[in-house]
Amino acid sequence: MIDSHCHFDFDDFAPDRAQVWERCLAAGIERLVIPGVSVAQWRSLFALVGTESRWYGAVGVHPWWVADLALAPEKLQQALVERVNKERAGSGRCVAIGECGLDGHIATAMEVQIAALRPQLAAACELDLPLILHSVKAHSELLRQLKEFRPSRGGVIHAFSGSREIAREYWKLGFYLGIGGTVTYARAAKTRSTVSEVPLESLLLESDAPDMPHAGHQGERNSPEYLPAIAETVAALRGIPVAEVCLQTRRNTERLFDL
Ligand SMILES: [Zn+2]
Repeated sequence: MIDSHCHFDFDDFAPDRAQVWERCLAAGIERLVIPGVSVAQWRSLFALVGTESRWYGAVGVHPWWVADLALAPEKLQQALVERVNKERAGSGRCVAIGECGLDGHIATAMEVQIAALRPQLAAACELDLPLILHSVKAHSELLRQLKEFRPSRGGVIHAFSGSREIAREYWKLGFYLGIGGTVTYARAAKTRSTVSEVPLESLLLESDAPDMPHAGHQGERNSPEYLPAIAETVAALRGIPVAEVCLQTRRNTERLFDL
């Protein structure tokens, strides 16, 4: 399995990162994609990625960090391009632009978030890289932006929650759905039914660790080592063998990020 979205560089993993990775390997999780969240974090993220050949990084500014953006939005595209080119020449394991997107649940005004998102969409187009997108209560605005930019490599809507109709809109634009802890909650009926109905070819597995704990583990640190529980839930919802979910989602992740 590949964890397509894991904040493994966060301090939550500082005390026992090596042990968690050992347990991942034992559980069959063999590669991680670690998203960027802020300009200030890119350097340390790629220092970590450089220590393990099965870890991959991305550069982006997450909507939660847009309020702290230390440069003018019009300078962001160039900053992304420079960092990606630097990391491509270094570890070579910079595989996406993101995590970026829109979040309707935070105080940062939507127009401020959009101003920070657009240069990231433009950078993905310029660099021909896929996008890792965060979308909370913002699907219609995000779809509007994507229809304008039409990023050639598509991307993933991480931690997808929503209807089959919205899933299909993203899929038509070349976007996979990142499936994580949300599907383990019985109350997430709409998302569970979407996951059971869309093509398996459109799904990626993700932990979003340390966030998104599974049902029954609220308040605990989430970890990439728990990814098999997501695969099992997806398999149960679709009524297919878990091995089929693992194999196809791994292929999807390899294809999207060109791993
Ligand atoms: Zn994330």
